[in-house]
Amino acid sequence: MSAPEEKTAGNFIRAIIDQDMETDKWGGRVVTRFPPEPNGYLHIGHAKSICLNFGLARDYGGRCHLRFDDTNPVKEEMEYVDSIMDNVRWLGFDWNDHQYYASDYFDQIYQYAVELIKAGKAYVDDQSAEEIRATRGTLTEPGVNSPYRDRSVEENLDLFERMAAGEFPDGSKVLRAKIDMAHPNLHMRDPAMYRIRKVPHHRTGDKWCIYPMYDFTHPLSDSRERITHSICTLEFEDNRVLYDWFLDQLELYHPQQIEFARLNLEYTVMSKRTLLEMVNQGVVAGWDDPRMPTLEGMRRRGYTPSAIRNFCEMIGVGRRDSWVGMDKLEWAIRDDLNPRARRVMGVLDPLKVVITNYPEDQVEMLDAPYFPDDPPKMGYRQVPFCRELYIEASDFMEEPYKKFWRLAPGREVRLRWAYFITCQEVIKDDSGRVVEVRCTYDPATKGGDAPDGRKVKGTIHWVSARQNLTAEVRLYDRLFNDPRPTGHKDQDYQAFLNPDSLKTIEAARLEISLAAAEPGQHYQFERVGYFYVDPKDSAPGRPVFNRTVTLRDSWAKLVKKGKAR
Ligand code: ATP
Ligand code: MG
Repeated sequence: MSAPEEKTAGNFIRAIIDQDMETDKWGGRVVTRFPPEPNGYLHIGHAKSICLNFGLARDYGGRCHLRFDDTNPVKEEMEYVDSIMDNVRWLGFDWNDHQYYASDYFDQIYQYAVELIKAGKAYVDDQSAEEIRATRGTLTEPGVNSPYRDRSVEENLDLFERMAAGEFPDGSKVLRAKIDMAHPNLHMRDPAMYRIRKVPHHRTGDKWCIYPMYDFTHPLSDSRERITHSICTLEFEDNRVLYDWFLDQLELYHPQQIEFARLNLEYTVMSKRTLLEMVNQGVVAGWDDPRMPTLEGMRRRGYTPSAIRNFCEMIGVGRRDSWVGMDKLEWAIRDDLNPRARRVMGVLDPLKVVITNYPEDQVEMLDAPYFPDDPPKMGYRQVPFCRELYIEASDFMEEPYKKFWRLAPGREVRLRWAYFITCQEVIKDDSGRVVEVRCTYDPATKGGDAPDGRKVKGTIHWVSARQNLTAEVRLYDRLFNDPRPTGHKDQDYQAFLNPDSLKTIEAARLEISLAAAEPGQHYQFERVGYFYVDPKDSAPGRPVFNRTVTLRDSWAKLVKKGKAR
């Protein structure tokens, strides 16, 4: 097991807030917000922002708002709103009464736009989007003023009202801030404030056919909600000047914007556009496919909220863009499941074992602790032992390599919680494949210890071949076999899909106690991995198991062998 490298003892944002508390900058208030656009499902990157914003509110006795930034009616849906709320709660956070929608502010935002027009600080531009883009200039060249820039206040007011009344077609006019077309910061070159979009909105219906731009809406929403610390990712650093400009012109309350580095996680993709594309193209089974980096997917895979919170704590919050290895997330998952998952036995690739000296009709019920490190913690279940068993095919080798300590001809091993057995004979089919192994057992070794002190090197898991649960088991692995699938100029990210990201085992043989497994339960199949009872596809008495994570980091080994990157 690899230990996490980072440990967070505070972070630079906490240092800022500590100082604000000392200087009484905000009168002791800490008000943050998590502002998703409801145009997709939340992913692990959002979790970092959620843990940060809600965590700060919790630790400083403040509050965190959930605000839907729903300014783009074309891509937004209620389905996403519902899932976002559900996932934030699932992560363990609560916004109480503080749920807001930017669309609730549309009337007010419109009034602010009118105010700016009246002050001669906004104008209606008839140029097309392409013309505006072409005259914006570059980092080294100033932009060109629009021929409509010097319209009178009266004309601008009239045109803006008529835009809102639906008199003009989509794209024929925009309202722009009148700042400076030669400003070194491109965001300040007369950015658009309103555009015409004749589409109904998921909340305001047909009321509006003009919609405020994100960059105009966002600072106004933050200001109106009296946010103290407006925390966002680094790419908004250059927008800050514009946000401040709007608030200054309108003489409104200023939150303090603080930027931090977004989470980039290896072996996956996180852009909503790419995730949507994979869902639409059927590359994955849906937004909640357990291989997706979405919270819906991770939930279904068996990742727990506390593991995700610990992971976010572990990776810390900084100002430098960096990549986080998938092994860190997997470490956090194991660390969280280890003390809570019941240990059971399941054979994924069964090989039959016949105990030739065990009475034909006898069945013994053996006591096996669910948590061997501390048996009273989770108690015991009984596993039936009889003459015919299944073991994992990979636990037998006819010609064992040097350090193979498991079953082989003439070799004695321990069956977990049961007896020592010795391999006496190998049965093969016509093609030479081993189909059965015949063994003898030592009745004196019941429970797994030899009274004469005799030792064996291998302990293997098993299930009764007569009483077991035949179940579907899904072995999930990383979706991509390259750490940065979208980082290749000459190749599409889909070229790096891991062909082994899902292996479905139709008929694994699991210990019979698992027939009572319920959706949402976590198990460790000893020696095999952590598994989660799929909440969607399981039926009473017919659980389906999703592999949450392997027991150790096997990927590093694959990379070493050249079988993965
Ligand atoms: P897009 O802008 O493409 O729709 P987005 O990832 O910015 O996608 P939002 O819904 O706007 O999606 O994000 C909501 C919040 O989550 C934002 O405040 C954003 O800063 C934060 N966030 C999004 N992705 C990450 C990430 N990878 N790491 C940390 N925070 C993130
Ligand atoms: Mg965004």
